[in-house]
Amino acid sequence: MKINENYKKLEVSYLFSTIAKKVNEFIRNNPDKKVIRLGIGDVTRPLCKSVIEAIKSATDEMGTFEGFRGYGPEQGYDFLKEEIQKYYARKNVSLDLDEIFISDGAKSDLGNILDLFSTDNTVLIPDPVYPVYVDTNLMQNRNIIFLKADQQNDFLPMPDESIKADLIYLCSPNNPTGAVYNKSQLEKWVQYALKNNAVILFDSAYECFISDSNLPSSIFEIEGAKSCAIEFCSLSKTAGFTGTRCGYTIVPFELNFDNMSLNKMWLRRQTTKFNGVPYIVQRGAQAVFSEKGQKEIKENIEYYKRNASLISQTLKKHNIYFTGGIHSPYIWLKCPNNMKSWEFFDYLLQNIQIVGTPGAGFGQNGEGFFRLTSFNTCENTKEAMERLDNLLT
Ligand code: PLP
Repeated sequence: MKINENYKKLEVSYLFSTIAKKVNEFIRNNPDKKVIRLGIGDVTRPLCKSVIEAIKSATDEMGTFEGFRGYGPEQGYDFLKEEIQKYYARKNVSLDLDEIFISDGAKSDLGNILDLFSTDNTVLIPDPVYPVYVDTNLMQNRNIIFLKADQQNDFLPMPDESIKADLIYLCSPNNPTGAVYNKSQLEKWVQYALKNNAVILFDSAYECFISDSNLPSSIFEIEGAKSCAIEFCSLSKTAGFTGTRCGYTIVPFELNFDNMSLNKMWLRRQTTKFNGVPYIVQRGAQAVFSEKGQKEIKENIEYYKRNASLISQTLKKHNIYFTGGIHSPYIWLKCPNNMKSWEFFDYLLQNIQIVGTPGAGFGQNGEGFFRLTSFNTCENTKEAMERLDNLLT
């Protein structure tokens, strides 16, 4: 027996365990101090009423002979796919129901999609980045080229014609930088992909934070994208489903390579290796798209966005460079006085008891940067920003 040697190439991520260790030690030594966590990458507000009602009623159905459901369609129930189809139609994107695949979240599909692609492919990944893209490719031994995102390009790297890539990861609004591509920037990426016979893996997990209708919230708003892109989305940040688990992946019919349809390959992959998202959860997800559900989830998103705005205002006041904070729950800032990411982490923890995430944990280009998030209460965010304001003053 031989193991998959590629796992040896994975770096152990010490990011969140080191943060926890440092914070716990600080609390042990300073039990009277109130620590405010603005490093959280998980939602904190509860599921909305419509979702809870739908989940309860689906649970009751499952306890009856008439309403009980066993294995469902692996690619999801039509009642949910139809809602997603309508959601895209409102963005002027027309989808066939069979182009929509319901998943247990974006993370699984982002990893699993690699089953469809040869390990000979070269992958283009922006740096800094959500680490899942890197690790899932390392596990399969693909060649990775990192694309530099930095202050010069406002953390929105554009295609470089001298680089030949087969798979391209784009995440907009971005984690960790909160930066959002505009339409003309995404058009350039689509043109690059079409020219190079490449596929864009577009992660739109944070699309619900976009409030400017001129900014694309789906890659399929760009002409030609259906011939070169797969989109991954999730209800995790949209509706607080991080623990409930439901997402969706769009694989257009137009994606044909070597006489094979990626849509048919993905269907084959899913029906072979996946048995679908629980009926109860899919009913909850359906409620997210109802008129009442949309209103309720938007209230939560607006709550987070007000926190993000508080953070942005404080940074602006002190002339600190940052991206995000408007169409994103994340604020990505340059550490003042050229401090390194971990240095700034310690500085904030020791002086004002605020916890954030050191940018260096998201890749080489994250060094010298820091991620704050809006996933805390309004009261705590306000208090944290008062402390930061005083410290910087
Ligand atoms: N994509 C990005 C950029 C993320 O930040 C996350 C989660 O934090 C995910 C995908 C995973 O989302 P899900 O909970 O749907 O698996």
